[in-house]
Amino acid sequence: MKLTTFLMAVCLGLFSTANLLAVKVEKLTPPIITEETIDQKISCTRPMREGKFNISTEETDGKIIVNCYGHGGSGCTTVFGSVAKAIQLYEQKYGKNDKAPVRVIGTGIIGLTAAIELARRGYEVTGITAKELFDIPSWKNAGYFALVSVQTDPEEQANLNQIGMSTFLEYKKIYEGKHPYISSECARFIPVYCSKDTDAGVEDLEAEGLIPPREYVTIDFGNGLIHENFIKFMTYFMDTTRIMVQLRQEVDRLGIKVQHKELKSFGELQEAVVFNCSGLGAKQLNKDDKMVAVRGHLLNLNEQAGLEHMDYMIYTKVKGDDGKDAYIYMFPKCLQVTEDYPEGRKVFGTLGGTFIRDTDLLTDDQLKILDKVEFKKMADRNMQFFYGKPFEEAQSKQ
Ligand SMILES: Cc1cc2nc3c(=O)[nH]c(=O)nc-3n(C[C@H](O)[C@H](O)[C@H](O)COP(=O)(O)OP(=O)(O)OC[C@H]3O[C@@H](n4cnc5c(N)ncnc54)[C@H](O)[C@@H]3O)c2cc1C
Repeated sequence: MKLTTFLMAVCLGLFSTANLLAVKVEKLTPPIITEETIDQKISCTRPMREGKFNISTEETDGKIIVNCYGHGGSGCTTVFGSVAKAIQLYEQKYGKNDKAPVRVIGTGIIGLTAAIELARRGYEVTGITAKELFDIPSWKNAGYFALVSVQTDPEEQANLNQIGMSTFLEYKKIYEGKHPYISSECARFIPVYCSKDTDAGVEDLEAEGLIPPREYVTIDFGNGLIHENFIKFMTYFMDTTRIMVQLRQEVDRLGIKVQHKELKSFGELQEAVVFNCSGLGAKQLNKDDKMVAVRGHLLNLNEQAGLEHMDYMIYTKVKGDDGKDAYIYMFPKCLQVTEDYPEGRKVFGTLGGTFIRDTDLLTDDQLKILDKVEFKKMADRNMQFFYGKPFEEAQSKQ
């Protein structure tokens, strides 16, 4: 278009500001998704609490219980702020100088961080008790820094944002190599692409000026598939598997022993002070009926999926096969630790995702069927998003 025609069009109002902003085209390489590149199917359950996380103190079984659980799909995004708040509440109520021995429940990201932060403040942490060491969301999640899948009361929102922002600043320290016990490769500041109608979970960071302003973009996958009306944000990809490895190493270095045991009640513990970071386990331990199990599924890719998709993230709403809202996500996860692979197994990205409530009410057989169905639907949704056709159709054409 000639400059004079362009200027006339602007004068006539044919281009709105949004249109002018929407012209940036981002060329992205999609991951290769085939039967051969899908390496592991991972399912696990988010420990969500309706209304708000439980960060509080109470007196039960003659003990002081400091609760820190219920972080849903954002436990890694809120870990440092949550633990700091729990310790602050305890100290406000019981005094900073009462350094009674403390036991922590849970070896998830919250429990390990609580044990380390308490020890760093001079508390005697006698140990951590945990029912499960590996088969927990903290070892399995995706690693997107955003407040998603958290059910928050409106009056709790400011509190939650505060926790999220202070955790963001800790990840900034990690990224800049300034964190005392987590190394810089555990956080990467990279783009995430979301459709315009997706609640990306980072809008408050943008409003506070902690991340650059959004950009309006068109995604071009270079295979004929173009997605218009997308937003590009910058946020952290948290390498949560490496973070968990480093938290475990720090716990060991501090001499804090891990006891592998399921607790039925707080009364089984000897210590007078207990930091309760039991995630979904709090449903029974605290008899907390606000706890909701939200199942998630991930497809981990292997090295044959390529490498270029490892420099960006996707988190976007799409239409599911039933016409309802569903989600696609793709994160550059690079390591998976399980009971069978305690040293870790290399991963070249993970695809998601699902948010299915109340799955703790299902039998094991029902859960197996649900997982099978969801993995298939998820592979289809991802193929549609990255290649424009369902999974099986795409495989048969190869
Ligand atoms: C598919 C999926 C994707 C996710 N993606 C992200 C993401 O991108 N970003 C993000 O921020 N978050 C994400 N999350 C959420 C995140 O993983 C969780 O919020 C976080 O791991 C919760 O940590 P936690 O320490 O509270 O709980 P957990 O990791 O569940 O740990 C709880 C601990 O308590 C122990 N415990 C429980 N009951 C008892 C008992 N009775 N006795 C003894 N021990 C007990 C458990 O064995 C375990 O050791 C995702 C979750 C899922 C499932």
